[in-house]
Amino acid sequence: MTVPFIDLKTQYKVLKTSIDTRIQAVLEHGAYINGPEVVELEKVLADFVGVKHCLTIANGTDALFVPLMAMGIGDGDEVITTAFSFIATAEVIMLAGAKPVYVDIDPRTYNIDATKIEAAITPKTKAIMPVSLYGQIPDMDAINAIAKKHNLKVIEDAAQSFGAQYKGKRSCSMTDAAGTSFFPAKPLGCYGDGGAIFTNDSNLYKVMKEIREHGSEVRYYHTRLGLNARLDTIQCAVLLAKMERYNWELEQRERVAARYTDAFVKINAPGFSVTTLESHNHSAWAQYTLAVSNRADFQKKLQEAGVPTSIHYPRIMPDQPFYQKTADPNVDLSKSRWAADHVISIPLYPDMDEATQDKVIAAVTAASK
Ligand SMILES: *Cc1c(COP(=O)(O)O)cnc(C)c1O
Repeated sequence: MTVPFIDLKTQYKVLKTSIDTRIQAVLEHGAYINGPEVVELEKVLADFVGVKHCLTIANGTDALFVPLMAMGIGDGDEVITTAFSFIATAEVIMLAGAKPVYVDIDPRTYNIDATKIEAAITPKTKAIMPVSLYGQIPDMDAINAIAKKHNLKVIEDAAQSFGAQYKGKRSCSMTDAAGTSFFPAKPLGCYGDGGAIFTNDSNLYKVMKEIREHGSEVRYYHTRLGLNARLDTIQCAVLLAKMERYNWELEQRERVAARYTDAFVKINAPGFSVTTLESHNHSAWAQYTLAVSNRADFQKKLQEAGVPTSIHYPRIMPDQPFYQKTADPNVDLSKSRWAADHVISIPLYPDMDEATQDKVIAAVTAASK
């Protein structure tokens, strides 16, 4: 039997009563846009993260784009980010009209190498957008210190890290703004597209809320350029139900990841490595990612053993056809390119039983030989 890459059906079965009840309530009260569940969820999420404001939003991409818009970052500006991420990170910088400036990664964690950020700063730099890739937060103290020194904004791309911690602080709580995604396959997912923005800055929050509503505070009176970027009430109802056991899910993800790591650190094959989890971090384990020397062969062996895999991501952002024009050929992105050629993610989800974990462990161990 093939192992699922993620299992959302079991999660639904467990939470069915709560999810169904909450969806039914929305169907009956009829406030499908800006209903009471939207505000209720924003309060739950803000409290969970430990920030003043949460703004639910249509998707994770808008959760990054709206803060850029609200901060007035655009034409002629530069935003520093990692070279190795899902394309949405560079996409929102381009959509804003700014230029993405790519920095190489630390190949142990796959996150932006904070020691290389300062060299990328120019008089045009307005912000840093670090990505908490695979669920692990990068060196936020170092990033915030650089931002403070150079008067830059920091926006965390927390699409993969909702619930993660860095030195006891939650992802989405340490930067001027942070955006997460509730795409179904993310650690906290709804049943469609969704996202949320977090900030402690009340003025920024107000501006972002207006942008979410076509640039208006009062209906049919538009004071700024905006979007239609609201999150549906039904999706908020689903997320309220899913938050009921989210702490358990995060613990369960950590438990599975720890079992994997315990088994995989014993594998002594050339080119094989696990992702380093910094001791001050709790990852949300959006992905459990390995590096292997012969990826095509490794992937085929796992597939034959009934273990699906996925590659996040096979090409760095500045090497994507549309984005090549944004790349500076003089910047060394060799670690990012190495990662794009060698990473592979294996199944991990909260409802994974130990027998399934053991099957994955056995398949990985055999395939790495
Ligand atoms: C998923 C993801 C996004 C975009 O989120 P969507 O909800 O799909 O728009 C942005 N950045 C990263 C790193 C992601 O993984």
